[in-house]
Amino acid sequence: TTRIVLASRPTGKPVAANFRLEQETVRDIGEGEVLLQILYLSLDPYMRGRMDDAKSYAKSVEIDGVMEGGTVARVVGSRNAAFKPGDIVLSHSGWQSYAISDGSALRKLDPDAAPITTALGILGMTGFTAYAGLRNIGKPKAGETLVVAAASGAVGSAVGQIARIFGARVVGIAGGAEKCDYASREFGFDAVIDHRSSDFASRLEAACPNGIDVYFENVGGHVWNAVFPLLNDFARVPVCGLIAHYNEEPSISEGHNQLPTVMRGILRRSLTIRGFIQREFVDQRPDFYREAAQWIAEGRLKYREDIVDGLENAPEAFMGLLEGKNFGKLIVRIAQ
Ligand code: NDP
Repeated sequence: TTRIVLASRPTGKPVAANFRLEQETVRDIGEGEVLLQILYLSLDPYMRGRMDDAKSYAKSVEIDGVMEGGTVARVVGSRNAAFKPGDIVLSHSGWQSYAISDGSALRKLDPDAAPITTALGILGMTGFTAYAGLRNIGKPKAGETLVVAAASGAVGSAVGQIARIFGARVVGIAGGAEKCDYASREFGFDAVIDHRSSDFASRLEAACPNGIDVYFENVGGHVWNAVFPLLNDFARVPVCGLIAHYNEEPSISEGHNQLPTVMRGILRRSLTIRGFIQREFVDQRPDFYREAAQWIAEGRLKYREDIVDGLENAPEAFMGLLEGKNFGKLIVRIAQ
C-alpha cells in the first residue's frame, strides 16, 4: 500500500516536508477482517488540528502515523460475513491506498442511490454539519437573514441552501468573483460578498439592511470582525469552524484583546454563541439522510465537488484548502 504519514508537526502553515509518502506491504487479513481498496479520500480543515499535539476534542496523529481521514473504499477481500468483495463502504481509513478493517466502523453505500463521493460531502460529514448546526443552534426562521462564509465550500454551500429551504434570506461570503458568482447562480444565495474586496465590511452591511439573525461561523478573522457589529438582538451564532486561525500559533492570534467588546455585545444583544462538533448530534443522522436525499432529488440542495487525482497530490491539495484554493468539497481520487 502507498500511504502518507505525518513526518513532522507544522509551525504555522503546513509545508510539504511535514508529510512523507511511504510504501508498505499489506499483511494478510485475519478472521472477521476485510481488506479495503481506498477509492476516495476526503480532505477536511480539521486535519490541520490533528497535525498539532495540542489537546483538542480528538486525538492528534502520531509522528510517523498515517494521516487521518474519511474514505470511500471497495471491499477486495473479506473474512467477515457482513461484507463481500465488490461492496462499497464508507470508512475512516486515512491517507492510504489499502487498509484493513474489522468491519465495525464501516457503513455500506448503495452506488445506485447516489454517486459514492457524496458520502464524503453533501450526504456525509460536511452536509450533516450544516444540517446539525442549523437545526440545533442557528434555527433560521422565515424572513430572517442568515450569513455564512466559505459559501462555495462543502459546509457553507449546504448551510445557505438549507437555510433558504427554511425560508431565510441568505447572504454568502466567499473569496473571489468566481466563487461568489457560482454561489448566487447555482446555490441560489440572495447575495454573495467577496471577503477579499477592499470595501468588504461596508458591502456586507449594505447586503444586510435588516441586520443578521443567524451567523454560521466557519472562518473567524476579518470575516467575524465585519459580521459582529451587524448581529441583531437575539441573534444565534453556531460556531462551526475558524479556518482563518488554524495555521496560527495561539500566542500570536491573541494579539489585540477583543474580549471586552465581544462580551459586551453578547450581553447587550442577548446573543447565543455556541460551538459544536457535528458528532454531538449523531442521533439526528437518519433524519438528515432522509431529508437531504429528498432535497437533492427536488433540486433544492446542490453540491460541488473539487476532485484531485492521486494520493501523492493530497498534501498540496490539503495545504491549498487552508488558503481557499479548493472550489467545492475537496476529495482525492486514489483509485477508480
Ligand atoms: P470548504 O470546502 O469551505 O473549504 C475551506 C474554505 O475556507 C476555502 O475554500 C476558503 O473559501 C475558506 N478559507 C480558507 N482560509 C480562509 C481564510 N484565511 N479566511 C477566510 N476564508 C478562508 O471547507 P469545509 O466546508 O469542509 O469547512 C468549512 C468550515 O467548517 C471549516 O472551518 C471547518 O473546520 C468547519 N467544520 C466544522 C465541523 C464541526 O463539526 N464543527 C465539521 C466540518 C467542518 P473562500 O475562498 O471562499 O474564502
